[in-house]
Amino acid sequence: MSLTERTTDIRSPGMDTRTPEQRRRIMQAVKSKDTKPEMIVRRLLHRMGYRYRLHRKDLPGKPDIAFVSRRKAIFVHGCFWHGHGCSKGRLPKSRLDYWKPKLDENMRRDRMKQEQLRSLGWKVLVVWQCETGDIDALAARLQYFVDESENSIDI
Ligand SMILES: [Zn+2]
Repeated sequence: MSLTERTTDIRSPGMDTRTPEQRRRIMQAVKSKDTKPEMIVRRLLHRMGYRYRLHRKDLPGKPDIAFVSRRKAIFVHGCFWHGHGCSKGRLPKSRLDYWKPKLDENMRRDRMKQEQLRSLGWKVLVVWQCETGDIDALAARLQYFVDESENSIDI
């Protein structure tokens, strides 16, 4: 009697092994309803079969998404508020004296929280709002981040 008849699904890190049908369902799920970046990432991860915790207060920075046993955390950042270097992250032209310190402080705090997490042995991934438009690329990146176990990730 065989113990299992399931074929083992060994995925190489970074490889998208999904069928077009699976991918289509992921795309549909992601496109529906709430389009906030964090919801896009959460829904995508869920559809990919991952389970995670949200906004764990006992972790530095209360990461948007945490894989506790894997010690991996994901922050989904709005490009403006967290000072991304893309077109959405540009500083406003007016009231720079108001915005600049505010946004600088956000970025400083982000860096600090990520460093704290790393010093606790966590790996950290930042997903920017502007990166949530390309679902295929995002799915591949998330899968790589969550599944990889040996190599370190440079952000
Ligand atoms: Zn951006």
